[in-house]
Amino acid sequence: MLFEEVSRYYEKLEQTSSRLAMVDILCEMLSKAGKDEIKNLVYMTQGILAPAFEGVQIGVAEKFAQHAISMATGFSDDQVLAEYRKTGDMGLTAEQFMGKSRLRAMSKKEMHINDVFGAVLKIARTSGEGSQQAKIKMLVEVIASGTALEARYATRFALGTLRLGAGDATILEALSKMATGERKAKSDLENAYNICSDLGRVAQVLAEKGMPGIGQIMVSLFSPIRPALAERLPTSEEILKRMNDKCAVESKYDGFRVQLHIDKKAKKVEMFSRNLENTTAMFPDIAKAALSEINPGEAILEGEALAYNDATGEFRPFQETIQRKRKHGIEEASAQLPLHLFAFDLMYVDGEDYLGKSYGERRSKLESIVSGNGLIRLSDRIIATRPQQIDKYFENVVERGLEGIVAKDLSAPYIAGARKFSWIKLKRSYRGELSDTVDLVIVGYYAGRGQRAEFGFGGLLAAVYNDGKDVFETITRIGTGFTENNMQMFYELLGKIKKDRKPARVEAVVEPHFWVEPRYVVTVRADEITKSPMHTCGREGNSPDATGYALRFPRLVSDGIRKDKSPEDATTTREIIEMFNQQKKVSVKG
Ligand code: ATP
Repeated sequence: MLFEEVSRYYEKLEQTSSRLAMVDILCEMLSKAGKDEIKNLVYMTQGILAPAFEGVQIGVAEKFAQHAISMATGFSDDQVLAEYRKTGDMGLTAEQFMGKSRLRAMSKKEMHINDVFGAVLKIARTSGEGSQQAKIKMLVEVIASGTALEARYATRFALGTLRLGAGDATILEALSKMATGERKAKSDLENAYNICSDLGRVAQVLAEKGMPGIGQIMVSLFSPIRPALAERLPTSEEILKRMNDKCAVESKYDGFRVQLHIDKKAKKVEMFSRNLENTTAMFPDIAKAALSEINPGEAILEGEALAYNDATGEFRPFQETIQRKRKHGIEEASAQLPLHLFAFDLMYVDGEDYLGKSYGERRSKLESIVSGNGLIRLSDRIIATRPQQIDKYFENVVERGLEGIVAKDLSAPYIAGARKFSWIKLKRSYRGELSDTVDLVIVGYYAGRGQRAEFGFGGLLAAVYNDGKDVFETITRIGTGFTENNMQMFYELLGKIKKDRKPARVEAVVEPHFWVEPRYVVTVRADEITKSPMHTCGREGNSPDATGYALRFPRLVSDGIRKDKSPEDATTTREIIEMFNQQKKVSVKG
């Protein structure tokens, strides 16, 4: 498939403001890719070179791209920089100069999707002495070989700023349509994706073997599984009701989520974060302990790593655990303050997939393979049948400095990649306060007025994630809680991802001064959830008097953006409706 054709589809994607149209464009584009091209095309459309766990970083520096554009087009570095300052988009800058370059006719040659993908991958992998020149040369060749439109998208891809706005769920829907003409295969494709966390691989298997091949994608060692997530409820009564009057209740540890893969014969241990990045280097102590403290030959298990003082039984604050994120001094840190891994789930043992087995079975097996008295412990838990038992346990763990509890359905399988009621969290922060915090996606912002005019920033338009529809629905405008520093930060950060029209996956009635690509998540506290015609969160139908949900008196509580959350990790529409219903009950009771 020619990259020129891909570029035309990308342009169409950029211009549409309808998610359904987006699915159709993606479906048509993916159908045209060859079996040996579709994987790279999917990665490119996601704006990545490989799934997160492979750790291949995309993104050449702006300076570097600027120089490559200058060399490819014959215009000076200063001219390129001046244009970039105007547009703020290196892709558009490359397009502009390619459009008027006199060198163009000399270097033009046909490029396929794999040529462009391969070149950007090679640029990312080239390092060491003299690599700068080699990288620039490769980028010059890509920019100079194509049309002006191709230069736009190749440059953005190389910089890591392609941002087409197609989320994983939208791409999965397009693949389903490609394979069956309808949406119906989406859930099978999603299951396969949840198991292997690699959308490119799912697309390739689909192209090569069709839906039967998708059913054969299995859990495999060193390829992370997308993590199960917890729903939330505010009381132990609600939790037990949902769990049919019996459940396990575990301590909720506040550290790093770790998915640990171990092959003892090969003496190999790897760990992955909640976002599926390879975090093995952060935990040398746990990797070492795993080889002696876990018993089968091969296993995948999951737990929370945190600083814990074995002598006093005291859990250390998250701030101390997080110091491990620094790349340097990990060895010293692990000597001073060893982390413990509190294991809470098991997904695979010696060739056998445990995902489909019940929590009860997974837990018994977990207990039998972890010795439990070294650095790897089992999460503490009880089995509860009465609310009072949960409350007592809750008070106890909170007193010990933990975050709260996670209740687990004894008969449920491990539901990879989804937030379901088989796990329900109850946190310290849900109690004794009027409102819980929510995590919202920024979809737009407002220009500053009065005192704020100098920052050019006057607040945010924020949305929740509707995971059923794969869209972002607005819920509030946030105007308070900003420090001068973070106003400046938002202004700069959001200026870079401004869009000239509403992004296709955003559903909104209100118009901010500027739309932005849904990318950044912030934590917000509000007094109350109310019904409002101004917002689309949970709104049924499009009639002018349809109402959605909105937040009253929202204020920003996170210090800037939440780097650990992607837009699809934001609070969901469903959770807001649940919180609204709970709130009604509380006020009826009160
Ligand atoms: P939070 O900020 O509340 O941790 P989250 O969105 O990161 O939210 P959730 O799925 O809502 O994650 O809550 C489950 C999280 O709690 C897991 O990601 C895990 O890191 C952590 N956790 C701590 N202890 C446990 C436990 N015993 N069982 C399951 N998860 C646990």
